[in-house]
Formats: sequence, C-alpha cells, structure tokens
Amino acid sequence: MLPQGPMDSGYYVYGLLYKKPAHGAYQYAHPIMMTAVLRVALEWQAIDRRRIGIGDISLAGGVQTPDHDSHKNGLQVDVRPLRKDGLEEPVCWWDREYDREGTAKLIEVFRTFAPVTGVLFNDSDIPFVKKAKGHDNHFHVELRG
Ligand SMILES: [Zn+2]
Repeated sequence: MLPQGPMDSGYYVYGLLYKKPAHGAYQYAHPIMMTAVLRVALEWQAIDRRRIGIGDISLAGGVQTPDHDSHKNGLQVDVRPLRKDGLEEPVCWWDREYDREGTAKLIEVFRTFAPVTGVLFNDSDIPFVKKAKGHDNHFHVELRG
C-alpha cells in the first residue's frame, strides 16, 4: 500500500472513490508503481514546491470494481493536474486555475522516471496524452509491468 502522504514525500493522496468502499481503499500499488510514485515525487520536489496529488491506484487483491475499467493490477494511477494557486484541490483542464505548463512538466517527469506506456487526459495541448471519457480533472498514468 502506498504510504499515505508522509511528510516531505512530495505527494499527497486523495481519492475520487474514497467514499466507496472506504477512505484510502484504492491505494494498493504494484511494486513498480510504488517505486515510480516515490521516484517521480522525489524528482518533482527538486523542481516545484507543489505536491503531487495521487488518487486511485487499485484495491487490495486486485478486486474488480464497477467504478473503473482498469485499476485492477496496481499499475494505473490517477493524478491531479496542477493548479496555479498551488491548492491541493481538484481542477479541470478548462479551469482558470489550471496550470497547463506545470501539468505538462509533471507528465514529462512521469515519462522520464517511470515506465509509462500511456497517459489519458483531455487537454490535447499536452504532448503524448490521449483523450478519454471523464479524464478532465485527473490524468491516468499506465505503467508497464
Ligand atoms: Zn484512472
């Protein structure tokens, strides 16, 4: 399970699905994902003061859920786009507070320091990302297992 936002880790956890079934339930990560999140957060800390918002990963035991098509093997993670005001709150890619440049940089850091095979996000001005339904207030990162 991903450590839940230890001090100075460079990330914080949130979850769109925290309420069902339980707070933090979607924080089970494959070891490759665990390493990737910790590494990306460390690299990110060196270039930006804002923490990365880590959302759903996987339920324990790879349980299938009605909420997600994937997120079963711990190799997918949802991440919040960055906000210009630095608040650790949701933001959509069309919002005024959305930081496109920062979010593009963050996705680049993921691709540099983790075995990323795809990113789903609806801001088509960001290189590499593919559009997918519902991916307006988070981007979805898929890693190679
Ligand atoms: Zn996702």
